[in-house]
Amino acid sequence: MFDFQRITHETDLYNFHTHTQFCDGHAAMEEFVTEAIELGFSHLGFTPHSPISVESPVNMSRDDVTAYFAEVDRLRDLYGNRIRLYTSMEVDYVRKGDGPASDYFQQLPLDYTIGSVHFIPAINDPNEMVDIDGKFQDFKVRMAKYFDGDIEYVVRTFFSQMTSMVEEGGFDIVGHMDKIGYNASQYQEDIDNEPWYDKLVVDLFECVMDYHFTIEVNTKAWLQRNRFYPNLKYFDLLKRYNAPVVVNSDAHYPTLINNGRLEAIKLLNAL
Ligand SMILES: [Zn+2]
Ligand SMILES: [Zn+2]
Repeated sequence: MFDFQRITHETDLYNFHTHTQFCDGHAAMEEFVTEAIELGFSHLGFTPHSPISVESPVNMSRDDVTAYFAEVDRLRDLYGNRIRLYTSMEVDYVRKGDGPASDYFQQLPLDYTIGSVHFIPAINDPNEMVDIDGKFQDFKVRMAKYFDGDIEYVVRTFFSQMTSMVEEGGFDIVGHMDKIGYNASQYQEDIDNEPWYDKLVVDLFECVMDYHFTIEVNTKAWLQRNRFYPNLKYFDLLKRYNAPVVVNSDAHYPTLINNGRLEAIKLLNAL
């Protein structure tokens, strides 16, 4: 397994979660590299949304994977003496056998892998996978169309998908582990402060620790939504479990590559 702790003790300036032209990022990989070098980063990992078995405009196509690897190689040749670049993917866990542990991802020469859940099954059709990530306007429409407005089903299913992903394994970092909390709490205020919700998060933490995964502190939404994933109120669990942590900006724009990271690191160091 990739040793993030060894790396992240060396420096606070890194990002292991970056989206570029190979998925829904808004700039070319090279622009992220030059921005990172300018800021003094030592490590930068690219994580296109992985090829996926369901219809998704944000995920990379399998046909582009070879070009993606070639582009990392080209950038390593150009910039490798100034920054360490990593080939990775943010791999979607879709359903049993269709996630990071599948043969397809296991045979790819990735330096490390983030495992994430962005899709859950519709309430009346287990084969219809619905994107519950992204903008709240879209989420609200899907709540009516695919979930009969049952927000508790959506939250519980998100966390059970996360748990299944962790149990199946085949990746290194647990991506934005309670991300459903944002859309769910927009849909129903304070749902993420209810005891049953809290228990789902704590149970997931325990499961992640049982399997010895690294936990991502995802800072993408800090400036806009004042929210980390996992939520700030769970940072004490990171300490209690002595969890291995990486702090990632989940950047889709080069200018946001360090967005929220230093704030999170400061809070983590103060625990
Ligand atoms: Zn994600
Ligand atoms: Zn991401």
